[in-house]
Amino acid sequence: MARVYNFSAGPSMLPLEVLQTAAAELCEFGTTGQSVMEMSHRSKEYQAIIDETQALLRELMQIPDDYEVLFLQGGASSQFAMVPLNLMTGSGKADFVITGQWANKAYKEAARYGQANVVASSADKTYSYIPKLDPATFTKDADYFHICMNNTIYGTKYHTLPDTGDVPLVADISSCILSEPIDVTRFGVLYAGAQKNLAPAGVTIVIVRKDLIGHAQDITPTMFNYQTHADNGSMFNTPPCYTIYIAGLVLKWIKNTIGGLENMQKINQKKAALLYDFLDQSKLFHGTVVKEDRSLMNVPFVTGNDELDAKFVAAAKAAGFVNLKGHRSVGGMRASIYNAMPVEGVQALVAFMEQFEKENR
Ligand SMILES: *Cc1c(COP(=O)(O)O)cnc(C)c1O
Repeated sequence: MARVYNFSAGPSMLPLEVLQTAAAELCEFGTTGQSVMEMSHRSKEYQAIIDETQALLRELMQIPDDYEVLFLQGGASSQFAMVPLNLMTGSGKADFVITGQWANKAYKEAARYGQANVVASSADKTYSYIPKLDPATFTKDADYFHICMNNTIYGTKYHTLPDTGDVPLVADISSCILSEPIDVTRFGVLYAGAQKNLAPAGVTIVIVRKDLIGHAQDITPTMFNYQTHADNGSMFNTPPCYTIYIAGLVLKWIKNTIGGLENMQKINQKKAALLYDFLDQSKLFHGTVVKEDRSLMNVPFVTGNDELDAKFVAAAKAAGFVNLKGHRSVGGMRASIYNAMPVEGVQALVAFMEQFEKENR
């Protein structure tokens, strides 16, 4: 069976080149005579892998030295608790913009540990836009300001960042990490589960400004304290060794095959434009998000007819375009076109949609 074009929102496609390298190295990594899966995380061979992975991430994202890079577990969902436990320790307040389910979960979890304020929400229109933000409404002495940068389920993205002044900006970048260059210096904390754009599930990347470490609430479990992991090079306990190794391969692919994040962004813009341009002129399909807030990574669309949506999803699957069913809260379809989705995959999907439109109007 040939490989399909997988439009899953996550876990999602990995570059074929990465899978092939992993396959070639599966049983014997280099001259070690063992698989990376079998290695002691304390071995010098494994230390070289995690060090290289961190160095590549720092290089590609231009992460300054005053930021710590942590390889954790527990997914982005654990960060919903870890961020407040570590940061909500000054005024005990934080601001949230509710742009979807993940943003809402981050807010609800933080509300267990301090005073969480909602400054804006787009719930009124099924999160189909990013609310316009007025800094005058922000909490002046907040310990942080939280956004979900790319809203995986609804297909929106911040194209400009809120101006939070001295209040650290914290962003969930699970579904847009490494999709384009990002100015790390604008943030106090960036975090991402790996399974959208970086690696298989299992590792969570946390990029945290060093001065924000070391002030955790007393109740913070040792494993939830950034300090624990910063002091131990992400090796306080066994890290997700194999997933970190795959992340390293993906980072090498971005650096060497793609040529860095500027090129990655150009390719992602090209893919998104192919799909959005088609949707904008289609008489059958239309996008669900306001134009100015559209995501580069997740593209939800509908026909307006549930039966036709289901017919499309089934026909697409039979033709080798899988996981196009939309999230249950939006309905319709969603094409997640992360870094590993080739331009040809989107071109082929658009051609398939054109044909489906001809046959179903
Ligand atoms: C997938 C996703 C999450 C949840 O990630 P887990 O690693 O499963 O906890 C959180 N936020 C965003 C934006 C996501 O896309």
